[in-house]
Amino acid sequence: MTRPALETRDLSMVYGTGDTAVRALDAVDFQASAGEILALMGPSGSGKTTLLMLLGCLLHPTAGAVWVEGQPLAGLSNHALAQLRLRRMGFIFQSYNLFPALTAAENIQVALELKGRDLGEATELLDRVGLAGRLRNYPRQLSGGEKQRVAIARALAGDPPILLADEPTAALDSVTGRTVVKLLADLAHAQGRAVVVVTHDPRVGELADRVVRIEDGRLRP
Ligand code: ADP
Ligand code: MG
Repeated sequence: MTRPALETRDLSMVYGTGDTAVRALDAVDFQASAGEILALMGPSGSGKTTLLMLLGCLLHPTAGAVWVEGQPLAGLSNHALAQLRLRRMGFIFQSYNLFPALTAAENIQVALELKGRDLGEATELLDRVGLAGRLRNYPRQLSGGEKQRVAIARALAGDPPILLADEPTAALDSVTGRTVVKLLADLAHAQGRAVVVVTHDPRVGELADRVVRIEDGRLRP
């Protein structure tokens, strides 16, 4: 049996210590598979970003275990975690995080360079998100939805099998948000990627293959 792309067992995260300690995640068992888009939904402060950061090897858990494509993260050095992140994962954020002084193509080339890829691939990546004509545009010349699509193209640099998106539609109107989620769904279905979308937008849930709900750091059965 093939292992899920992402898996956690008894995963807990506590920020801080003593009186100020915050239990952000409590014994979370989570799985996401290649080829599916999963929506992780819950109210503000429920632990969504924390879980995404643990899946993305951006945080060390307080307790419990994470596997990425069957590989346990426990015991990996920070360097090995960074390599895993770089080669196997793409990240998408609510606020796009594009460099304002760089064009759409150059924003993607930054990621291509980090991943040791041909900078010419930026053209094809922008084409894949429907922005072939926007190569030389700066972020300020793009709409919110276009900026998010550039960010998705950037996340696709190096062809990672796992995409992690934190509230990617929160800054977009509903029609644009839908387009962005449909694009993410297509990246899961047509290309076999595992796509995890954190959201509290019910419309994202409608377009996902599966919805996982979280409340107060616990997954709801
Ligand atoms: P969500 O993304 O669902 O809004 P988060 O994962 O950001 O939730 O936060 C979960 C809980 O952990 C919240 O109570 C939040 O205040 C707390 N938290 C998140 N990050 C930190 C941090 N770096 N230090 C202390 N508490 C944090
Ligand atoms: Mg969050």
